[in-house]
Amino acid sequence: MRKIGIIGAGPAGVFAAINIKNENNEVYLLDKNNNIGEKLKITGNGRCNVTNAKYYDEFMENIIRNRNFLYSSFSRFDNFSMIDFLNKQGVETIVEEDGKVFPKSSKSSEIILLFESLIREKRIKYLPNTTVENIEKSDCFVVKTARKNYKFDSLIIATGGLTYPKTGSTGDGYNFAQSFGHKISKAKASLMPLYLENRLDVKALSLTNKKLILRTKEKSYEIIGDIMLTPNFITGPAALKIQALAARDELESLSIDFLPDLTYEMLDTKLVSLFERNSKKNISNVLNILLNDQLSSIVIDRLKIKRDIKASIITREQRKRILELIKDFDFKIRQKENFNNAVITSGGVDLKEINPKTMESKLVNDLYFIGEVLDIDALTGGFNLQIAFTTAYAASLDIKEKI
Ligand SMILES: Cc1cc2nc3c(=O)[nH]c(=O)nc-3n(C[C@H](O)[C@H](O)[C@H](O)COP(=O)(O)OP(=O)(O)OC[C@H]3O[C@@H](n4cnc5c(N)ncnc54)[C@H](O)[C@@H]3O)c2cc1C
Repeated sequence: MRKIGIIGAGPAGVFAAINIKNENNEVYLLDKNNNIGEKLKITGNGRCNVTNAKYYDEFMENIIRNRNFLYSSFSRFDNFSMIDFLNKQGVETIVEEDGKVFPKSSKSSEIILLFESLIREKRIKYLPNTTVENIEKSDCFVVKTARKNYKFDSLIIATGGLTYPKTGSTGDGYNFAQSFGHKISKAKASLMPLYLENRLDVKALSLTNKKLILRTKEKSYEIIGDIMLTPNFITGPAALKIQALAARDELESLSIDFLPDLTYEMLDTKLVSLFERNSKKNISNVLNILLNDQLSSIVIDRLKIKRDIKASIITREQRKRILELIKDFDFKIRQKENFNNAVITSGGVDLKEINPKTMESKLVNDLYFIGEVLDIDALTGGFNLQIAFTTAYAASLDIKEKI
């Protein structure tokens, strides 16, 4: 009977295990944690945005790096196959805004309980608290842990990336891959806040529908969406998205247009008339008519004028400067890799050395890589978990065919 080893009991490793197991094989699932899916548990703020119901083209647009690699495996197990799998297993799903799919219970624990029951039902040999230290290959794979060595005919590495290392993802898979001669494209933190070079005098300030332009050494990125300003970083959906797009670049500055619906000319006309109509009022009160009061404080601070000077005193140059600050307020961005606070790792096992149909290594027979350990990543919305499930399924089909 063939013995299959899977290192990592995250969504990729568990999904591979339950799809591989049949009467012809023994499947071992090893994880350094006490429980399966420590990261899965915290996904979607504990609700688990398990996949996305967008149709093919739109789905693929959200896979921002190396989406071509997924075409073949996705054609055999896509987002709708995953929804179908969950529903058939008794997990009801709901589709929310932007196609995000969640279990109807809004609890990631429901998915984890399902996976645990399938592990038991299928008699997968789950080995918790088992940290793999290194792997060698002779006639079979020898997987070394502190307590014991295990021998496997096929081996899947599903050790994830580097984010939220407390959940067990500490990049061990990169070392295993390198020990077999695989190249690793440098791991970068993605879907992370943008850290400010200079502290901002603001409490947490949520803003909707702002235009962001992120300039990097390589290019500039532009999106409109919701953000949150805090003293040390800018976060919120639009900030995370633009950071993800630029995750592999050298960051320079972020510019925010606080009133993107108005052109420069429209805003200038508006400022002239506001200042005329409110000439006796303090500049801060006048700007509060246009902007949130915290936002007008930020603008006034940057302008280096007193809050209580009257609107009538504002010079033409100062008005032009106010206009520029509202339309193009720039922040210097700190280059920082904060894996503790990033959702996903961009980078990983170089895909040129992996068969996209099967996830098998092109360098070592019977060695597979699945999930976040691979150099493929997506935006938020359930796409990253789907990458884990799709790549796991591809490896499971190939391994079963070989038996
Ligand atoms: C806060 C947060 C929220 C997220 N929310 C979502 C969401 O809602 N939707 C979405 O699509 N994606 C989300 N993601 C991303 C998603 O969680 C990951 O893409 C996904 O978990 C990757 O699955 P994986 O199985 O490849 O790796 P992981 O989930 O990282 O699992 C890897 C496993 O390998 C084990 N391991 C590592 N090294 C060893 C070793 N040496 N020996 C033994 N075991 C080892 C680890 O303990 C871990 O259990 C979120 C991520 C974070 C951090």
